[in-house]
Amino acid sequence: MKIHPFLFSAVILLSSILWILPSSCSENPVVYVAFWFDTEDYILPQADDAAKRLAEMFAERNVQATFKIVGEKARVLEERGRDDVILALAKNDIAYHATNHSIHPTPAEYSRDLDWHEGVREFIRREGIGLKTLQQVFGVNASCYGQAGGSWTPQSYAALHKFQIPLYLDATPHVNLDDRPFWFCGILTILELGDCVMRTGWTNDEVKQACAEFDRVHQKLTREGGGIISIYYHPCEFIHEEFWDGVNFSRGANPPRSEWKLPPMKSSQEQEQAFNAFETYLDHIVKHPGVQLVTAREIPSLYPDRAYTRPITQNDIRTIARTFQDQLSYIDLGDRILSAGEGLYALSQFVAKSKNGSHPAEVSLKFAYGPASQPLRIASEGSFRWEAIQQAAQDLVDAVDDAEQLPSAAWVDGRPWRLEDFAKTLAYAVADESYSGDITMQQGELRTMDYVADNAPDLWGWVIFPEGFDAPRMMEIAKRQAWTIKPARLRLSN
Ligand SMILES: [Zn+2]
Repeated sequence: MKIHPFLFSAVILLSSILWILPSSCSENPVVYVAFWFDTEDYILPQADDAAKRLAEMFAERNVQATFKIVGEKARVLEERGRDDVILALAKNDIAYHATNHSIHPTPAEYSRDLDWHEGVREFIRREGIGLKTLQQVFGVNASCYGQAGGSWTPQSYAALHKFQIPLYLDATPHVNLDDRPFWFCGILTILELGDCVMRTGWTNDEVKQACAEFDRVHQKLTREGGGIISIYYHPCEFIHEEFWDGVNFSRGANPPRSEWKLPPMKSSQEQEQAFNAFETYLDHIVKHPGVQLVTAREIPSLYPDRAYTRPITQNDIRTIARTFQDQLSYIDLGDRILSAGEGLYALSQFVAKSKNGSHPAEVSLKFAYGPASQPLRIASEGSFRWEAIQQAAQDLVDAVDDAEQLPSAAWVDGRPWRLEDFAKTLAYAVADESYSGDITMQQGELRTMDYVADNAPDLWGWVIFPEGFDAPRMMEIAKRQAWTIKPARLRLSN
């Protein structure tokens, strides 16, 4: 067949455009900057005006910030008749920052001794109240949630699914995957980002330094192919000397409303200095080439989870098995990343559906929370019939399909196995193609648990917590959700 010369040159032209496009894009990667304000002081009325002034600062520049608003703050704005503040905030992105923030018990306090399911229910019950207020006052659902102070809980993530909030945005060390955005419990999460979390102080020198630091990090991220910078403040800190909750609720104090004290304020000159410093910093960033401001509402579309875009092929299964042989962690399939839990589900399906030497061409994927609990007594060694392994794999798939959660154990011949050992054993069987006879149990450790902080006093250093507060059981529960951890990959700009 003879190809028409015009068609031929059109194909050449098209392919060269396609060739040029991605490379020219990667030469000019975008650095996204999210400004967010924890809007929480419902005691000092002047904090309302501070929030308004900041909200308008963004609107005047045709850009948006994200205001994470406390439910009680939304309520008092309405009670005080501050429609002007509500309207100014509504020109920006509206997000959520707990029902009462610092009135005890805060989320980590009431979740401290609860199990997974109780903790999810309790979070929905208590924090659902403020979210409802926020929705009524602003007429939209929150774009993201971030905890009050250091009051982080793993169960809040399952509640966010229920609240239809797709993003967790804050800055806290409870979970951290290499200082970059990641997935935890199926929720896109942005917490500590290393030097990509930044801000300016209030003096001229500090602004100069902060602008230089912004330029440095911007350059670094551009070299990395783009990324996100997180900049956060509280509107109240532009006008106060001390936080509203520090003066009332420190170290477990819980005075009645009638005894709440107003926090001390900055002089009006100091307030102006703070707003002006921030405005200079904002202008430096807004006018910076290669920068795009993003709100929490836009962030999920920058980090799509491609895990579910197509089925898992036999090739993918081999990659999962090899990764698990090496270490139990998330799996990079090239065009998408699976969590260890997603890998285990896929492997289990593959094994369960294999019959007489023939294997399924592909299996589907399903999201599952990490297990809610862990069995105390477990099988730890030995050889097991292949059929028993297969049956346990089918049982695991059934459990996930039923509960959207990994079971606490895999039951092989009536004995409970740790999921880590089961995943490792499946990986060896699949990698070695040993699909019959006796299978030796392999032992494994879930490496992604290292991304979840150990319970330690400094993890709970928030001044609002009662003296000596910690939450060992809650961090154990969080570690089991390490099955869901995987990096979030930035969409290439085009
Ligand atoms: Zn806060």
